[in-house]
Amino acid sequence: MKSRIWVMLLAIATFGACAAPTPEQQILDDVAAALGGREALEAAQSLSIEGEGVMRNLGQDMTPDATSQTFTISDYTRSIDLTTGRMRVEQTRTPTFNYFRGPDPLKQVFGIDGTVAYNVAPDGSATRTPNAAATARRAEYYHHPLTLLHAALKPGATVANARTTDGESLVDITTEDGVTLTLAMDADTKLPSHITSMLNHTNLRDVAQRTSFTDYEDVNGLMLPTGMTVSTDDYQILDFSVTAQSLGADVGDLAAPDAASAAAPITGPPPANVTAEEVTDGVWLLAGESHHSVLVEFSDYMMLIEAPNEARTLAVIEKARELVPDKPLTHLVSTHHHFDHSGGVRAAISEGLTVVTHAANAAFYEDLAERSSTIVQDALARNPKALTLETVDDEKSYEDETMRVDIYHIADNPHADTLLMAYLPRQRLLVQADAFSPGRDYQPFATKLLENIEQRNLSVDRILAVHGGVVSYDDLVSAVRAMAN
Ligand SMILES: [Zn+2]
Ligand SMILES: [Zn+2]
Repeated sequence: MKSRIWVMLLAIATFGACAAPTPEQQILDDVAAALGGREALEAAQSLSIEGEGVMRNLGQDMTPDATSQTFTISDYTRSIDLTTGRMRVEQTRTPTFNYFRGPDPLKQVFGIDGTVAYNVAPDGSATRTPNAAATARRAEYYHHPLTLLHAALKPGATVANARTTDGESLVDITTEDGVTLTLAMDADTKLPSHITSMLNHTNLRDVAQRTSFTDYEDVNGLMLPTGMTVSTDDYQILDFSVTAQSLGADVGDLAAPDAASAAAPITGPPPANVTAEEVTDGVWLLAGESHHSVLVEFSDYMMLIEAPNEARTLAVIEKARELVPDKPLTHLVSTHHHFDHSGGVRAAISEGLTVVTHAANAAFYEDLAERSSTIVQDALARNPKALTLETVDDEKSYEDETMRVDIYHIADNPHADTLLMAYLPRQRLLVQADAFSPGRDYQPFATKLLENIEQRNLSVDRILAVHGGVVSYDDLVSAVRAMAN
């Protein structure tokens, strides 16, 4: 008798669920219907997209918030095999701003196959990307209405947390392979207006990566967007227009190249290699990789110049404390905001260092220090500390009996508006990053560095380059002459 009641209750519950779908299911049903119907979405096998776009230079522009530097994206093809979940993108990236130091234009090929993400260099050689990049690439695969809905309709996917924000219905979808994304449905059209997923950004830590969709068109019975914009939190990074797209076309074999699929997974950065060279009394060049740091000894404290990334910064700080164990390391001078030079600022804060930076960086570094890092706990998340900031407008001096360091803004230089250099007048030494990188043929920023040195009447014998090591003042002069010819 008891069991019969249970069966009846179960039947009512099941029937009830069918009659009134959950709010989550309702959103999925509405979106699927608006896109062309569940059957068509499930039956889709491949998608090929061609288009063109404009990409911003996030993290490498003139100031943290600047948007003037862009790249044109052309010859773009995104091939998606929905049956295997593989994607490959080919594009040509051309800078539209002066003084870009990379290949110009650059053909880029990259893709994802299962958990293997890869890049193919212009010479055809493929490399496996670190796992963190593969996670981002896998999420990127789902940042399209077709790939996400195709995945969301599978039995292993889950939907949760239906809600309404700013007139849009949102639902969280977790795919069979464990990626969670938020789908937003436009209230009028019921079409996806954006897809968002949370990502650990090397510099910014927890960020919302969002792709917004506009201008849907009918492609063989499915509605697909032709306008897309991508943003990382509040930073818009890509504007993209689809020029042609086809469903069911032969996209070929999108398997990862053998060199990438056979390579071992890369779970984290390689151990930092920090060498120490005492350049003169109380000044050490901490080299060993592409981005060096400089350690300066005052009477009763130590100053570090440059914190490029977390792993290296923690290692450099450890080395500094090893070199001079009896004086506290208290200051970090960050030469500029560029992501490859400021990625260790949070680590430096976690070690209690006061951050010295250009005034135009203040808001950005204050935000950086406050950001959460829950997806991957970074050094500052593990060891929270408040930021102490000292800003430099045009110049600022640190001086005691032992040492004097004058920090100057490198004015009017085309590399970054936040660029600082450190001058040690007693040693006639100049520490600088990116304005002059010895050993490179192309030195577009050296002229302005030389002008700044001359205008400030600095007597420089040697230059410590964050890229390149210790060179003479004459090396800078020669580089400027070579650029003039
Ligand atoms: Zn830079
Ligand atoms: Zn650099």
